[in-house]
Amino acid sequence: NTNTNTNTTHFFKSKLPDIPISDHLPLHTYCFQNVSDFPDNPCLIVGSTSKTYSFADTHLLCRKTAAGLSNLGIKQGDVIMILLQNCAEFVFAFMGASMIGAVTTTANPFYTSSEIFKQFKASRAKLIITLSQYVDKLRDTTTNTDEKIPKIGQDFTVITIDEPPENCLHFTLLSEANENDLPEVSIDPDDPVALPFSSGTTGLPKGVVLTHKSLITSVAQQVDGENPNLYLKQQDVVLCVLPLFHIYSLNSVLLCSLRAGAGVLLMHKFEIGVLLELIQQHKVSVAAVVPPLVLALAKNPMVAKFDLGSIRMVLSGAAPLGKELEEALRSRVPQAILGQGYGMTEAGPVLSMCLGFAKKPYPTKSGSCGTVVRNAELKVIDPDTGCSLGYNHPGEICIRGPQIMKGYLNDAEATAATIDVEGWLHTGDIGYVDDDEEVFIVDRVKEIIKFKGFQVPPAELEALLINHSSIADAAVVPQKDEVAGEVPVAFVVRSNGFELTEEAVKEYIAKQVVFYKRVHKVYFVHAIPKSPSGKILRKDLRAKLAAAPSTI
Ligand code: AMP
Repeated sequence: NTNTNTNTTHFFKSKLPDIPISDHLPLHTYCFQNVSDFPDNPCLIVGSTSKTYSFADTHLLCRKTAAGLSNLGIKQGDVIMILLQNCAEFVFAFMGASMIGAVTTTANPFYTSSEIFKQFKASRAKLIITLSQYVDKLRDTTTNTDEKIPKIGQDFTVITIDEPPENCLHFTLLSEANENDLPEVSIDPDDPVALPFSSGTTGLPKGVVLTHKSLITSVAQQVDGENPNLYLKQQDVVLCVLPLFHIYSLNSVLLCSLRAGAGVLLMHKFEIGVLLELIQQHKVSVAAVVPPLVLALAKNPMVAKFDLGSIRMVLSGAAPLGKELEEALRSRVPQAILGQGYGMTEAGPVLSMCLGFAKKPYPTKSGSCGTVVRNAELKVIDPDTGCSLGYNHPGEICIRGPQIMKGYLNDAEATAATIDVEGWLHTGDIGYVDDDEEVFIVDRVKEIIKFKGFQVPPAELEALLINHSSIADAAVVPQKDEVAGEVPVAFVVRSNGFELTEEAVKEYIAKQVVFYKRVHKVYFVHAIPKSPSGKILRKDLRAKLAAAPSTI
């Protein structure tokens, strides 16, 4: 069982058999394929108002939105940006875009103006759907001084789901369009449908091209097939508090629920009291969460006042969940199966998942991320030699299957550095597979920092820091944090003769980035350790932090 023979590749597969996958369909057809079986079941439940859309309502509103987008000139292959918290319109717009063969790039509405424009330009989006309160960021010229700012109404269209400000349009223009205006399009399974941004294993955020086939495969791997151990079933009520702009929620909550016939409880923001109230009121049965939310559910005293008896499964993903925390949550929801999913945007995103329905026959151990999804292969390689490793040997996790991304948008080099010629996607995560085929993630060799599951690309912060006139060099690495999991901290070399305080550096960054990318601590140093080829030796900096931060 501990074979590390360098000549053979050890393929790890699911414990469940492969299944047939309808990967010839467009995503929307696949997701709504079973709607006629449950047209009146609740599909979307808006937490703040309790307004409920049945599956038939939702399907119709998606078709109308598709017709409306087409009426506005959005064509097959065009990109739209959704800049929204969780809401029903998010769903109508995403599925509507799919119906006309358009592609959606999703972004965090809390992004600063420059963060939004970087993604907007890289994705060449033609239209943005947002809330009126974010429109000012789309007009902001102060942080975008170097380039011509595209003008709303002239260079691109802005649609708001509330009262539209000047030059913007109202979402009803889409949702009240005539569905007969929906054009006929012929969609190839390899056409893109979603374009989330991720920095992957290195560098700046890049567009991740996910095709109809990749998302259908990923959803099917989670919910299709006749098996009692599947993650979602019809009539489940699934908590959707994680942002839909991240692929975890978009795929594993929304798309999986649409396909399976489960209801989605949409919460536009996280507030523990409201969350508990809604779980109790709507009898939430599946809660998709991230470790900081597990912490809140495990530790907050308010939890004891609510009945959480409806929850049959809690699925945590996006960042590592400690065993202690898992145990602490267990006492709060003793009836529920607790498990983890392990995902990466580029992987479509799910690589492995706990098998959720019954404790038997496949219970997953505490700390495990379940087993690799069906219709896919996983291998573990020695990060230095690339040799395939056997059971119980930690190494870099690689995944292969039709669900992984097609590649990075307009970036063949970054694509080739991530997906090798044999089709293996290299995750930059260190983990192993144990004797029971369960996947354990133990470390990360890639640069990315994860603050409460959100990506913080060090390269982005380093570029900003180096732009500062008083900074000669800089490096950003993660520091462990009890609440956030990790926080970004900066090592900064001041330019000769310049005064610069920690506060000034923190403020300088805070002005330019979304809250979770803020630098938490600044260490002034004389030099940044680098390899002969000029690469920052992040490992050394991480080791310094772990050993004795006070001596830096
Ligand atoms: P993202 O592309 O934002 O989903 O981030 C993907 C990365 O998050 C993975 O490559 C891992 O480093 C980390 N991650 C996701 N799920 C888990 C998990 N269950 N345990 C540990 N790390 C995880």
